[in-house]
Amino acid sequence: MSGSLRGAASLTDNQARPPEGGRYYSNVMADRVYLDWNATTPLRGEARIAMAEALDLCGNPSSVHAEGREARKWVEAARATIANAVGALPKNLIFTSGGTEANALALAPGMRRAEGASVERLVVSAIEHTSVLAGGRFPEAAVTTVGVTANGLVDLDQLREILRRGPPALVSIMLANNETGAIQPVAAAAEIVRAAGGLLHVDAVQAFGKIALNIKETGADLLSLSAHKIGGPKGVGALVLAEGISAPAALLRGGGQEKGRRAGTENVTAIAGFAAAASAALPGLQNEAHRLETLRNRLEGGLHQTPGAIVFSQAVPRLPNTSLFTVPGLRAETAVIGFDLAGIAVSSGSACSSGKVQPSHVLEAMGFGSEVARGAVRLSLGWSTRDADIDSCLEAWRRLAPSLLKDQRRNTA
Ligand code: PLP
Repeated sequence: MSGSLRGAASLTDNQARPPEGGRYYSNVMADRVYLDWNATTPLRGEARIAMAEALDLCGNPSSVHAEGREARKWVEAARATIANAVGALPKNLIFTSGGTEANALALAPGMRRAEGASVERLVVSAIEHTSVLAGGRFPEAAVTTVGVTANGLVDLDQLREILRRGPPALVSIMLANNETGAIQPVAAAAEIVRAAGGLLHVDAVQAFGKIALNIKETGADLLSLSAHKIGGPKGVGALVLAEGISAPAALLRGGGQEKGRRAGTENVTAIAGFAAAASAALPGLQNEAHRLETLRNRLEGGLHQTPGAIVFSQAVPRLPNTSLFTVPGLRAETAVIGFDLAGIAVSSGSACSSGKVQPSHVLEAMGFGSEVARGAVRLSLGWSTRDADIDSCLEAWRRLAPSLLKDQRRNTA
């Protein structure tokens, strides 16, 4: 093994590219339509092959012997591939167990710019993933929330005002929202944060692999990534640092792995899968984004034929694969079950805990009442989505909508 990711290169043409109208040879069940790609993606064939090869590496990447050095080569090749994919230096990438851990690691008091004061307070946008809203290692009293507009974009005037009143802050704003897909003005936010002497963390978990991403262009000081949103395995991710930013204090301490920034033997197999997925996802990204946007727009055109249908954040730049919609009176949990029985996997925009759909904190932050915030359904597309899937989804919706909306009228009467 030369240190390059051999698995990706040994795919046959058939495995690398699905036939038109067909599917990747991997995983979406043949008789199902999977439209929940923002929750997670099927494993890419390239990742599967790289992981199968990496499973046979017996060495610990920290060991000095040949077996250890071989495993280390895989980890470092993967680090270079992923760092390069986001325009960062490999030495500035820390592997983690996923996006949640990357976010938790990033949100640490005490970081500073070389020339600045350390940040002892945190500002998060109201539409962040719960792993950011939890505040990392900042005490609750040190966390301030910045609101969003009705279209779901972070309110930059409010951000400026919050930063003006008080000491330098760490600010956390996601690049793209997981529910609406709205792409946040992070580069503009970065200027505001920098002028106020603060640091910017950007959760790019949903954006990576869907839109172009370069850490310098975002202006982020810290950037979170996750493998399973791009066709890699679940349970691996990374925190990427901009050049010149020193790492947050380690969350996991013990061994000196990841240069002491994250203890624990590296998950070599998952890391190899992460890099192979990134290598497969990024070439042709623009064409794929265009293809998905065309499918998504056709889907939304069909949904709009239902009177009163609303597609959230439709007026602002969004991820090309994401659509969050509702119709007055719709209940997300019944709609998700109805779609599932019709063979289509979708999700409610809102978090589902213990089987009960909670109102979406994203829609509430956008100013919608709890009825609307409980009634949104998210459809998200990916590389195996084809025209026929959109047809099936719209057909199911046409069949389901009358009874779903009638049931709702009865429930609310
Ligand atoms: N951040 C965002 C925006 C997400 O959508 C998710 C997962 O849904 C995460 C973070 C968490 O990532 P992981 O599932 O890898 O912990």
